Amino acid sequence: MPINDRCWGCYEVLDTENFYHPGCAQKLFGLRSTPSLNMTNFDFGQVAQDMVGQMSISGVQPKISMRLDKKTKSLLSAPQGGELILKPQNSRF
Ligand SMILES: [Zn+2]
Repeated sequence: MPINDRCWGCYEVLDTENFYHPGCAQKLFGLRSTPSLNMTNFDFGQVAQDMVGQMSISGVQPKISMRLDKKTKSLLSAPQGGELILKPQNSRF
């Protein structure tokens, strides 16, 4: 059983272990496959420090500016020039 059975892009049923339909990934990221986000090596505390004074916080919802590295197909934190917003569900913020 896949962990998620709904596409994160359109929320229609997904029958693969991807997070998005290929078409939805294409629309969102310009890639045919879902970019990877390595959460285990992702240091939110460090990223937050890097972005002090640059993060836009509305209400209490933390946001991290991200960009897509099309060479490695992975999402990276981007203090400048971010094109995507990551909203961590993390109480440490
Ligand atoms: Zn979809």
